[in-house]
Amino acid sequence: MSNQNISNKILYWYDNNKRKLPWRKKTSIKNREYFTLVSEFMLQQTQVATVVPYFINFIKIFPNLKFLANANEKEVLKNWEGLGYYSRARNLKKTAVNLLINFNGRLPKDIEKLKSLPGIGDYTSRSILAIAHNKPYIPMDGNVERILKRVFLLKKKKEISKENLNKKKSFFGYSKRSSDYAQAIMELGALICKPTLPVCSLCPLTENCNAFKKKDFIIRSKNKFNKVKYFEANIYKQKNKFLLIKNKKFNFLKNLVIFPMEEINKKKFNHSDYKKINVKMSNMNMKILINDNKKIKKTRNSVLLDKTNINNYILPSFTKKIFSSLTN
Ligand code: SF4
Repeated sequence: MSNQNISNKILYWYDNNKRKLPWRKKTSIKNREYFTLVSEFMLQQTQVATVVPYFINFIKIFPNLKFLANANEKEVLKNWEGLGYYSRARNLKKTAVNLLINFNGRLPKDIEKLKSLPGIGDYTSRSILAIAHNKPYIPMDGNVERILKRVFLLKKKKEISKENLNKKKSFFGYSKRSSDYAQAIMELGALICKPTLPVCSLCPLTENCNAFKKKDFIIRSKNKFNKVKYFEANIYKQKNKFLLIKNKKFNFLKNLVIFPMEEINKKKFNHSDYKKINVKMSNMNMKILINDNKKIKKTRNSVLLDKTNINNYILPSFTKKIFSSLTN
């Protein structure tokens, strides 16, 4: 089967099955560039379903590049709250300023110029070129990788290397509808060639797929499982208010407001009678002991928060979870 047929089959499937996503709305070329920029930043490390409500809200508050470039960074971070990886929000804001000053508010069509912008690496620049500028790129995300691994039944370490997967991308061939085609392949991976249970009965690639022929859908991955880390959160309460501090200590979620805490070992965690909570982060599983029996002196960076003023601060999800376990 020719690669032309592959692209026709995938695009036919896409035209009939694509999700209605807010950044795919028909709009002006300039807005499309902006929507692509914001959605691609949000989609780095985050799933589509999680991103949708954040994107809708973000576009309401910052409807175009100029608004975002002129916005206060605190306001941008506030509207990113809960999405995690806050450096993305800071970089998005910096990129908006940079585009306004150096590129007349437009996204460059040159990959090196795109890569020179804060927060835009190889993958995001290819996505932008394909989706916003209709250039013939197929960005290699987890969905595209999975389809290739199954179509060619790639299992060995060498076979699943980035280099080999990039070579295998020629399987997809080419379409003049580059923007739709890049999105179509990723969509096929997300909706049909799913990680655990692929829906082969609805897939346009069954004739070409070795995993389907051999009924072997197991995916080999280089990614390790998330590490489990143990923490003790120290709770200082004054009337109904809790003491929180700016995170200067941990490398994750720097400068956001957290309960004073320290990393502890598994033994201490397991042997403690204090309340425990689990929080799944995108890069680790946090197991947190809530020690509400400790007296801590106030520090220069501390704030006292209760239900009435907590929303004025940008809080990581684990801080919110500790807070609600204390107040409910
Ligand atoms: S046939 Fe099944 S395994 Fe093969 S690409 Fe399609 S959904 Fe994935």
